Amino acid sequence: MAREQLATAARYLDLNDGLHQVLASPMRSLVVNFPVVLDNGEVQVFEGYRVQHNTSRGPTKGGIRFHPDVDLHETTALAMWMTWKCAVVNIPYGGAKGSVKVDTKQLSMRELEKLTRRFISDISIVVGERSDIPAPDIGTNAQVMAWIMDTVSMHAGYTVPGCVTGKPIELGGSEGRVEATGRGVVTAMEEAAKSMNLNLNGAKIVVQGFGNVGSVAAKLAEAGGATIIGISDATGAIYNDKGLPVAELYNRYSGRDGGIREYKDCQQITNEELLTLPCDVLIPSAIAAQLTKENADKVKAKLIVEGANGPTTPEADHIFSDKGILVVPDVLANAGGVVVSYFEWVQDLQNFFWEENEVNNKLTRIMRHSYAAVESMMKAHKTDMRTAAYIIGVKRVADATIRRGIYP
Ligand code: NAD
Repeated sequence: MAREQLATAARYLDLNDGLHQVLASPMRSLVVNFPVVLDNGEVQVFEGYRVQHNTSRGPTKGGIRFHPDVDLHETTALAMWMTWKCAVVNIPYGGAKGSVKVDTKQLSMRELEKLTRRFISDISIVVGERSDIPAPDIGTNAQVMAWIMDTVSMHAGYTVPGCVTGKPIELGGSEGRVEATGRGVVTAMEEAAKSMNLNLNGAKIVVQGFGNVGSVAAKLAEAGGATIIGISDATGAIYNDKGLPVAELYNRYSGRDGGIREYKDCQQITNEELLTLPCDVLIPSAIAAQLTKENADKVKAKLIVEGANGPTTPEADHIFSDKGILVVPDVLANAGGVVVSYFEWVQDLQNFFWEENEVNNKLTRIMRHSYAAVESMMKAHKTDMRTAAYIIGVKRVADATIRRGIYP
């Protein structure tokens, strides 16, 4: 899928074969097999990867995922997508991704810490604050980032906060990082609404997934005057045409065993029903491949803003395009997270920290600017917004590659 999307952008850009080949290949892939002594004294070997896709525009950046289903191919595709995402919002990074094949639910905290420290030690031959900067992804969080920062610092002999982002604030994390992706999603939604003449004040919004991205997007959209009529999490979906109380759902129900389905003043619905509710905006912010050729025809939203990575399949994209539903693609809509990760890195390198307002204002400016650039590319090429975003991202990386030249 990643290579197919690149090929589409390459056709618009008329890229020559050699350059296309460079961009289609990961620059460096490291596979490690490393042992961890479990709490019961037994040794288990885990497989992990770090893939760096492209460094034409700067050091590489990308999350570390702990999940039983990861493999080298998926990690490579995710690294390539990070390259385009960083280029679309014009921050000076290439893309990378790391992963370890592990079910973290089977590990104690101590085992998770040992696995993290050993993995980062083994990939330290390729990662570092000037070369490749990891961040959280599925199965990893601020605590894991803190262990990474500590391990790298122990090896260096001094504290190296810039070696990883998504850290706790007290260890050099950035104000505004936790809300950054959801905030960026809402900014992208506002820009799209403006160009569609859609008034968000009183608009009906449906949010799939109520974790970091979905809950912040719902909260900020509600604060802007919209009514959140449908929300789901892994336990199920709820609906109330008069509006759902986002803060109460988050504070009292989310993350608990019963999840948001425990809330009573609403109708319980299925995930399928949630995605096809009559609404103005749909914000998928859970997992990949949710909008498919099976349900795309039934979607009634006027605008889809992708909080999640890859929630829309290429077949569904075609259907939305035919129906005139605007899809703001993930590489643009959810780029707020990596933008504020970049701010965190800049602050760490300078040991000079910004107030939350400054972070949020700079983020909003980048999101608006990037949205405008993608929208005008979309109009210029009479294409969909995903292709337009890819054209911009791929062109910036291709131009940097040409400018630098092929060494030696
Ligand atoms: P999270 O783990 O905080 O939240 C995920 C939410 O989705 C939870 O509420 C979970 O219950 C729900 N969920 C899981 N399976 C579901 C299902 N089948 N149906 C409905 N809901 C389901 O994760 P997150 O950080 O909010 O990430 C969500 C998505 O956004 C992912 O695709 C992630 O890759 C993407 N993303 C996140 C960031 C970030 O900064 N957190 C940045 C860019 C992209």
